[in-house]
Amino acid sequence: MKRAIEAYCLGIESTADDFGVGISNFKGDIIANASSSYIPEEGGIHPREAARHHAEAADEVLNEALTKAEVKPRDLNIVAFSQGPGLGPCLRTGATVARALSSYLNIPLVGVNHSIAHIEIGKLTTGAHDPVTLYVSGGNTMVTAYDCGRYRVFGETLDIALGNCLDVFAREAGLKHKKGTPLGAAIEQLATKGDKLIPLPYVVKGMDISLSGLLTAATTALNKGKCRLEDLCYSLQEHAFSMVTEVTERALAHTEKREVLLTGGVAANRRLQAMIAVIAEEHGALFKTVPKEFATDNGAMIAWTGVLAYTNGIVTPLENSYAKLRWRIEKADVPWLK
Ligand code: AMP
Ligand code: MG
Repeated sequence: MKRAIEAYCLGIESTADDFGVGISNFKGDIIANASSSYIPEEGGIHPREAARHHAEAADEVLNEALTKAEVKPRDLNIVAFSQGPGLGPCLRTGATVARALSSYLNIPLVGVNHSIAHIEIGKLTTGAHDPVTLYVSGGNTMVTAYDCGRYRVFGETLDIALGNCLDVFAREAGLKHKKGTPLGAAIEQLATKGDKLIPLPYVVKGMDISLSGLLTAATTALNKGKCRLEDLCYSLQEHAFSMVTEVTERALAHTEKREVLLTGGVAANRRLQAMIAVIAEEHGALFKTVPKEFATDNGAMIAWTGVLAYTNGIVTPLENSYAKLRWRIEKADVPWLK
């Protein structure tokens, strides 16, 4: 069957360990979402090694997305890319691929804020309109909502991100990141077999949280060898998730929004989903969680946010397409929201 002529955006995600390419049409149908993850042999993400992975994977992931979408490069109307925040070498690799495509195909380039993309794909896939969002991933932890022309941060981590906290603990415990089972998911599985709540630091300061003391205490308890790993995973989750839930609840009470959206890689966690569902219900708000495929970093969210930006007048000239390593969510324009 011949498809009607449509406009397409190809989005490139490369802020950290994932290289993703997604394709969205201008109506918000996601027609491809391909990715390749860099899995370090040991330790956390090494930015230069991750960037090398992205450069090597780019060709294959691009082809996979275009093939899946049945779209030829010449049919693309815009190229969007994750411009920040993220790891410098990784961001630069994605931006280089995006610039090359944009100049070869002679189509506009659109730099997208990665955090906003997590929210917009959550809204697109769940039907949320104006939520309080808890965005929790390997590199970010924040409670945010739209107010007076921008996404505002109501609370955030003062040190490490929630996903990072889970990942570091998992590595200390000797767990391995396997394809399809991120370290946070391995913790989740073990936590379901834990039932003893071990007291650990619970640090909420105003609307912000701190997770590094919790991580140190959990790791120390692990190394002492007196607690079951299952109980420690359970206790780590209960403490960390309660902290983000407390702050989300206060943001919900303050903003009086009618929806709560959970997004980012850690959004795949059932226990966290259950906690946020409870506070949403208590405040008469709808609870929405992004589908697993779009929870972790992905190209589709960049493609869709690229459509929103471009159709509302945003293009990124080549000279402004540099990586913005610390691009905070409230600094990004969102002309599509009113
Ligand atoms: P992202 O940074 O958005 O790509 O998400 C990756 C983060 O999500 C990593 O820290 C993972 O360990 C974490 N993650 C993925 N699945 C789960 C899960 N089921 N429970 C908790 N964390 C998870
Ligand atoms: Mg990732």
